Amino acid sequence: MTQTLPFSLTLKPVGSTCNLDCSYCYYLAGDTGCGSPMDFRTLDKSIKNHIQSQPKHAKAVDFIWHGGEPLLRGRDFYLHAFQQQQHWAGNKSIANTFQTNGTLINHQWAQLFKTHNVMVGVSIDGPNLLNDISRIDKSGHSSFEKTVRGINLLKEHEVEFNTLTVINNRTYHHGAKIYQFLKDTGSTYLQFQPCIDHELDRRSDYDWSLNGEQWGRFLCDVFDQWCQEDIGKVHVQFFENCLMMLMGHPSQMCHHSEVCGQQLMLEKDGQTYSCDHYHYDDYQLGNALDNSLQELVAGGQQRTFAENKRDRLSQTCLSCDFLPLCNGGCPKYRMNFEEQQQGVSQLCDGYRMFFTYALPRLLKMVDAMNRGYSAKFYQLF
Ligand code: SF4
Ligand code: SF4
Repeated sequence: MTQTLPFSLTLKPVGSTCNLDCSYCYYLAGDTGCGSPMDFRTLDKSIKNHIQSQPKHAKAVDFIWHGGEPLLRGRDFYLHAFQQQQHWAGNKSIANTFQTNGTLINHQWAQLFKTHNVMVGVSIDGPNLLNDISRIDKSGHSSFEKTVRGINLLKEHEVEFNTLTVINNRTYHHGAKIYQFLKDTGSTYLQFQPCIDHELDRRSDYDWSLNGEQWGRFLCDVFDQWCQEDIGKVHVQFFENCLMMLMGHPSQMCHHSEVCGQQLMLEKDGQTYSCDHYHYDDYQLGNALDNSLQELVAGGQQRTFAENKRDRLSQTCLSCDFLPLCNGGCPKYRMNFEEQQQGVSQLCDGYRMFFTYALPRLLKMVDAMNRGYSAKFYQLF
């Protein structure tokens, strides 16, 4: 059997069930939110399976609790999960991340996160008016105040958190404002996700997708802000990833790695998919109740899925100077993503714009770091 690399698992204990109704949410399409949440038997088996599927040399095992809104499954469920993880962990350490809209966080949740060393990713799209363009509850009301209250509770309990901000075609031109807001909330690790409202997932007539130029403009605007005074203080995932890749390290972002396939997604009934972005029948690998996740991640179907990212690059990408940094982006964002020869990414113009604009400064930062200095002194090199 093929040697397995460490892999992460995104678990969806409540499937797509959520207390919000964000307009661009790709996961709500075609799903009624009905059906039982994950039961304890599935939870126990999935935890044991995931830990025992990691290669012997893996020191840590990653669990990413996602939704829908994972907090809807209740604290007792996760207390049990943490106990099970410790039971099976052996000599490996366990890392738990929750991706949440933050609206349900109270003192008890914050205390639980602190006690169990959980990293909390909070989804928030910027200041009030920008956030509420799309992040609304099921009655159409704002989610902003509740999310900010959740963040404040995390800070009060000294829980480690980061932010995930989706950029759509109605917010992209507010890069500086969004960046400043996120800093003001106390977030020091910022993840920005371009909204690609894929036709397979779209839930209304309105297409929230960014085009490449809009994504590029957003990245350049935020890069300028970050360079002014925040290098080394505020971590912007995309910029940090560029720096690491320029220093010769592999991409930490699957979108910009040469191949993908190391992020399995496990639904509430144990069904396991190639990736959270490919929650379609054709990408079901098997059920974690019946199959070893090690076999699923190393199996032929998943290897083909992973390697298609590299093997089906468009001619445009193959002849692009930025290929080593970009690797063509996520296959789901490529036009004709089911075709043998995939099209170029919908975000290509944005990647090109950003790399052209930022590379001179990024390369100076790398130069500074290679000489043992902080990247913030890049202007001296
Ligand atoms: S399909 Fe896209 S999101 Fe999924 S692992 Fe590959 S690059 Fe990442
Ligand atoms: S910048 Fe565009 S052409 Fe170049 S590798 Fe990325 S997606 Fe392909």
